[in-house]
Formats: sequence, C-alpha cells, structure tokens
Amino acid sequence: MSGTSEGPTPTADLVPPATTDGPPKPPTHRGGGSAPGEPYRAAFDRAPLAMAAIGPDGTVITANDAFRALFVPPAGPDGKPGTGPVGRPAADLVDLGSDARTRQGYQEVLRGQRARLRCSRRIKHPDGHAMWARITVSPLPDPAGPAAALLSVSDISARRELQARLRHLQMHDPVTRLPNRTLFFERLSGALETSSFDDTGTGRIGLCYLDLDGFKAVNDTLGHRIGDRLLAAVAERLTRCADEAGSARATTPLAARLGGDEFALLVEDSTGTEQLADLAGTLLRTLQEPFDIAGQRLSLSASIGVVERHAAGTTATGLMQAADTTLYWAKADGKARWTLFDPERNAHRMTRQALASSLRPALEREEFVLEYQPLVELGDGTLRGVEALVRWEHPQFGTLTPNRFIGLAEEDGSIVQLGRWVLRTACRQARRWQLDHPGAEPVFVSVNVAVRQVWDSDLVADVDAILAETGLDARLLQLELTESAVMGSAGRPLQALQALSDMGVRIAIDDFGTGYSNLAYLSRLPVSTLKLDGSFVRGFRYEDGAHPNPADEVIVETLIQLAHRLGLTVTAECVETAGQAERLRRIGCDTGQGWLYSRPVAPDRIPPLLVTRPVRPPDRAA
Ligand code: C2E
Ligand code: MG
Ligand code: MG
Repeated sequence: MSGTSEGPTPTADLVPPATTDGPPKPPTHRGGGSAPGEPYRAAFDRAPLAMAAIGPDGTVITANDAFRALFVPPAGPDGKPGTGPVGRPAADLVDLGSDARTRQGYQEVLRGQRARLRCSRRIKHPDGHAMWARITVSPLPDPAGPAAALLSVSDISARRELQARLRHLQMHDPVTRLPNRTLFFERLSGALETSSFDDTGTGRIGLCYLDLDGFKAVNDTLGHRIGDRLLAAVAERLTRCADEAGSARATTPLAARLGGDEFALLVEDSTGTEQLADLAGTLLRTLQEPFDIAGQRLSLSASIGVVERHAAGTTATGLMQAADTTLYWAKADGKARWTLFDPERNAHRMTRQALASSLRPALEREEFVLEYQPLVELGDGTLRGVEALVRWEHPQFGTLTPNRFIGLAEEDGSIVQLGRWVLRTACRQARRWQLDHPGAEPVFVSVNVAVRQVWDSDLVADVDAILAETGLDARLLQLELTESAVMGSAGRPLQALQALSDMGVRIAIDDFGTGYSNLAYLSRLPVSTLKLDGSFVRGFRYEDGAHPNPADEVIVETLIQLAHRLGLTVTAECVETAGQAERLRRIGCDTGQGWLYSRPVAPDRIPPLLVTRPVRPPDRAA
C-alpha cells in the first residue's frame, strides 16, 4: 500500500450529527441486516468513486476497484506485492490520525455520533504523482453490522490546480509576472503582523519604493508594446537583485509591481537602513545598464524612496505613505537617486500641506495683513515710499512671514487672488495717507508681484481697475518683480510691463544681483528701479572694525554708475547700519530700505514719518 499524506496539514471539515446531510444509503451487502444484493455489490465495485467500508475498529473491511487502484500494496522485500487495503487501518491510508481534530471527528463518525467528516489530503498516487484528494467518512446506518462507516476518496487535483491558477492570476501582474499590488499588500500586512509577535527575527521592515524616470516618454514615443516589454525587462532585473540580496539571508525580498511604472521591494526582517541603502544602490546601478528591446537600445533611470523602521507600531498604510513621500523627494531632488525617509522633512511637509490647504479659506476669512517698510532717500533721509509686505495671521501657527507661504500660493495659483488683495489694500492705504495728510509729500507704495500673477491673470486690467477704484495716482504705485520673472520675457509679460509703464506705474527689479544681473537686457525693458539685494550691502560694515571688502564696493559702485547711465534709480535693501547708509550714499545709491530706518510696521506707524520731516535713524534700542 502506498497511500501517504504529505504537504501542509489540511483542515478537516467536521460536520455535527444534527445536520440534514445524514448518512448515505448503505452501498454494501449489509444494508439493514438483509442479504447482500448482488446488483448493489457490482455497482459498488465498479463505481468510479473510490470507496471502502470501515469496521468499528477502523480497519478496511472491503474496498471497491477504484479504491484498490489508489492504494495498491507496496512491494514486499521479496518483490511481491503486499496485501491490499483490506485489513489495514483506514486512518493510515488517508492520514486521519495526524491532527487531533480530525482524529476525534473520525472516531465520532465510527461511533455513529457524527454525520460526516470531510478533509482534503495530499496523497501519493501509485503511479508516483501527488494528488489532492477529498476524503469523506460517513457512518453507515446499522452499527451492529461489520461495517461502521463508508470512506470515499475523490480526486480534486484539477480543482485545486484551477484554484491555485486563479489565485495566481488574481495576485500577479500579467505584463511582468511579478506579484501585484494585492499580493504585495497581503505580504506586507502579514509581515507586519508576524514581526509583532515573532521575536526570532529583527522586528524591522524595509521598503524600496521605485518609480521609473521618464517611462511615460517611452510609452508615448515607442508605443505600449515596447513599453510593456521594457517593464518586463525591468521586472526581471529587479527580481535578480532581490534574489541576490536574499541569497545570504533567511528571506528574499519580495519584488512587486504596484501599477504603471511603480515597483516595490519589501524586505522582511531588515537589519537597518544600511541594508536598504545597499539594495537601493544596487537597484539603481542595475537599471542604469541599457536595455535592448526590439532592436532598440533604451536607457532608463529610476527614483527610489527608501523606508526602514521597526515593524511594531507600523501600519501598511503608514509605511506606504512614508515611502510615497520619500519617492516624491527623490524625484524632486533631481531623480535617478534613492532618498531615505526623514521624519523632520516629513514634519515640514505636513506643515506645508496644512498651510497649502488653508490658503484659500484664509483669504476668505481675511487672515492676511499688510505691513509697510519705509523707502528712504539716502541724500536727505526723507521718506519717499513704502514697500507693502504681506503677513498671514494664522490661527494655529501665529504670524507667518511671506517666505512661508508665497511659494505655496504660487504653486496652487491662489497667489492671483492673494496678489489682487495685496494690490487693492496697498493702493487704498496709500490713498488714505494722502487724503488724511494733504500737507505732506505723497509717498508711493511698492507692491511685490509674483510671476504667476503676470501670466495667470490680467495684471494690467487689475491694476487699472484698482487705481480707478481707490483713486490712487498711477505714479504713486511701484510694482516689484524679480529679475528671473522678467528675464526672457517676451509676449505677454513684456506687453504687460509696457502697458503698466505706459499708465505711469513704476517697475522695479527686486533682489537685483541674485539672478542674471543682465543690466543691458534690463535697460531695454520698461524698468525704472533696481532694488539691490541685501547680500551686496552686507559687505559695507565700516563701524564694527571689520575691513570692508573693497571688491564688493567696487562692484556696487560700478553697478550704480551703470544703472544711472541706463536711466535707472537704485534702492539698496537691508540697510542695517549708519555706516552702510553713509557708504551707499557716497557711491551714489538713491534710496535705502532696512532696519536702520524701520522694520516693516503697521500702517498707523507711517503717518508720523510722512511730514516733510526727514526720517532719522532711530536709536538702536527703539
Ligand atoms: P523683498 O521684497 O525683498 O522684501 C524685503 C524683505 O527683507 C522683507 O522680508 C523685509 O522684512 C526684509 N528686510 C527689510 N529690511 C531688512 C534688513 O535691514 N535686514 C534684513 N535682514 N531683512 C530686512 P519679508 O517681509 O519676510 O518678505 C520676504 C519676501 O516675501 C519679500 O522679499 C518678497 O519677495 C515676498 N513678499 C512679501 N510680500 C509679498 C506680496 O505681497 N506678494 C508677493 N508676491 N511677494 C511678497
Ligand atoms: Mg520686494
Ligand atoms: Mg527684495
């Protein structure tokens, strides 16, 4: 006899006696104690289902042809076949004794206390192949006879195989044959669960989340078929890397395709960031080798987000979110690289996110205010204008300076609305001062304008409408644009600058010197003022004993002379000391702005400076 059980312990399906699925009709000669019916016997013997009658002691009393065929006796030492299944314990033939639940259920069936026992077993067919069998044992109606139960064995290999194939299909990606998202998450959740109670491993988990750079271009230019083949080739290399990484370890990383051109390698029981960094480096190098596909040589790179942490307290979603963020950093930092998750950078991102999402509502709730910083004539110290600087009085984060949110507002486009609000508020304020102080020299207001305002809104129409609405003279408005915003401006921005200038509005170049510093080019634009970046002025520290950098002074002096020759006036930013102011005045700079004169202040602090009185440097304590 060669019937054995092998493979994983199958689960037994124990049905209590109370079910409607009662014992079957007796197939043997001992039906209800009456004489054996020959037709029944013949039907039993030739039935395609393998069946055997079991005695109360669990041995096989009789078996049909199909059953005998399954359990042909193994050859004895003399080479002759042994005895057939009859007389052998059925539990040995189909492994009903190895797990306690099945064993007990089987005993209950034999005693007539249970209606049926069912289980699946992997048994060895006499021809050598392994097969999956469905085992059913049911009691026979008359326990007084020699047979207590009927055992049947049906071959369910085909069904099991189909099930396995279906599961494989459901869990794998057809293009690359890699595990798909579903299987990946199943494994990830399993790994997180296991490491939380299994203390034989490291208790850590790592993930490389990978996205191909520029894959879309391959798909778009060479077509999806080439794209698919490239993905399959990538998958092959990733699998190779995973196998190599796993060769010296207990577990091999799982490589999966999460969708599109995104892949992941899951490292269970990771030993630390170093292991993950090594793996990520190998992945990058491997993918950098060119691919030869359909006669084309294709080059590719990838960006990888790497996360490595304790499994305890980590959720699959949390890990994936961290990986996603890190991948985004890798892309933003220039692609073709791996980046490690950084909790601090993440906290910053969260604040950025929180700020970005509350920008538009903040505009409606009027959480923005303007402060004004004096622009002072260096020659006589009089106030000529003020720069309007926006602040966000955030209910949660307190007062925020523009560096925290202007960039975000530019990214999501809300700068257009915010910019319009700033422009209107500043113009209204400038007009208010003028109306309230008719005897004073009127001051101009200088408003910062972001590039996107020029591109995404009709700045000229906005300015025109706001000047009309507030009654401010166009000559009392200055717009500050950065050098990079006007560089290369042709078409719309240039037309806008020209139209504004034609209206009488002054255009200033903000932070001059930090960009291209192309004076010749700027002079051809309708620009009237250069605002020299604070970094230049920092070289002008006479009074604190440090030697001034003569090169800086020469550069600034030459710049100012050149600007004047081109018809531009010059304002110096960040004037903090009297020495700097004096030096700037001597080399011909027109106006200055900085803490020496005043910090940016609330609008009610400006009128005292308005009168013909010159603005004096306040004493430093003030
Ligand atoms: P900016 O236009 O160059 O403004 C000057 C910045 O230098 C201001 O910073 C001001 O507070 C600071 N500052 C002034 N004097 C001194 C000084 O003596 N020393 C030092 N170290 N700093 C000084 P703030 O207010 O934080 O503004 C930063 C930038 O935000 C501005 O630079 C401007 O580019 C932008 N910004 C401000 N308001 C607006 C706005 O309404 N719209 C747009 N698009 N951008 C704005
Ligand atoms: Mg400015
Ligand atoms: Mg500036």
